[in-house]
Amino acid sequence: MSELEAMSVLAPRRKTRPIWVGSVQIGGDAPIAVQSMTNTDTADVQSTLRQIQELAELGCDIVRVAVPDRAAAEALPGLVRRSPVPLIADIHFDHRLALASLRAGIHGLRLNPGNIRDPDKVREVVREAKERGVPIRVGVNEGSLPPLPPLEEGEMPPPKWKRMVDAALWEVQILEDLGFSDIKISLKSFDVPTMVTAYREMAKLVDYPFHLGVTEAGPPRSGAVRSAVGIGILLAEGIGDTIRVSLAADPKEEVPVAYDILKALNLRQRGATIVACPTCGRIEIDLIPLVNQVEAYFQKLGYPITVAVMGCVVNGPGEAREADIGIAGGKGKGAIFRKGEVVRVVPESQFLSALIEEGHKVIQERFGQAPPMATGTVSGLDEVIALTPVEGPGPGRVARRQQP
Ligand code: SF4
Repeated sequence: MSELEAMSVLAPRRKTRPIWVGSVQIGGDAPIAVQSMTNTDTADVQSTLRQIQELAELGCDIVRVAVPDRAAAEALPGLVRRSPVPLIADIHFDHRLALASLRAGIHGLRLNPGNIRDPDKVREVVREAKERGVPIRVGVNEGSLPPLPPLEEGEMPPPKWKRMVDAALWEVQILEDLGFSDIKISLKSFDVPTMVTAYREMAKLVDYPFHLGVTEAGPPRSGAVRSAVGIGILLAEGIGDTIRVSLAADPKEEVPVAYDILKALNLRQRGATIVACPTCGRIEIDLIPLVNQVEAYFQKLGYPITVAVMGCVVNGPGEAREADIGIAGGKGKGAIFRKGEVVRVVPESQFLSALIEEGHKVIQERFGQAPPMATGTVSGLDEVIALTPVEGPGPGRVARRQQP
């Protein structure tokens, strides 16, 4: 399937009114922005700034910081001044922390309508945000919904998604009544069907941009899958303007997952895309360590090229040809492809160095600059892998790694 045909399976993007979080446009025709959140003590400026910088280096467009108390709010001016990306203050319970964040120069606010329930306090924040041109995310979370009003005898409580939508609309109305429209909305739930339904229903009602996320999605593996399903369903329907993958892990792990979701739908690419075979009984090279090293190397370079690492001649040449560079492994040697052509056949000990050399050529040609080698020399990198082809006949043999 061609790239164009693949694109056509996506619904057209929902039309949203753009807002600006600092220098980053959200909504309209802007690319889907990637966000994450620090997990340091915000009052610790050095640690928080270090984490913000690490996230920015991974391609995070916007970073959110928790502002749970006055000490955190007091750290904001220093963070805002030195952050390489726009910052959003995450506010719960106390609207005065939102006011302090605005006065500190924050680029965006997240307010939770579930726990700042006094409309006058919300209005106070909105007036200050409007004066400063700072957008507000109405950030609904299934875990902190406003209390349900008393039910009539026999009345069923509304479904969760409806309560989430209603909570967001309550706050949106307050903002709109003050002529404020720099609004972004999130409706996060751990439960994917609930979250998907809430966003779909809200998309019928407003044209504000959406921040997508599956809340408290879990540890890295299951959290990445849950996020990819929830966020991916909506993105495929054209819904969503910025995404955050929430993992119980170092926030640095969230950003590559977010990009992998965007890459999977051909919506945005950052860093290399690695095509790799899952390995099977036909394999005759030690492919998995090679894939890991290829991914680590090319992701670090950050150029959006496609690299195929394939174990044998069944699908190998086909996939390798489609990619910018690739290898199709064989018995103790591999065919290296660049832009669809076999450019050389190398012994197993040179797989990594050959891919790196060809990758650098592609990058030089396409981006007009030769990236420096990420670590050491090319031959040094091959030594890290230390592959040893296993002797013996027949398919199904696996090249073993040399034990140190
Ligand atoms: Fe098996 Fe070859 Fe397919 Fe890899 S490319 S999974 S080794 S058949």
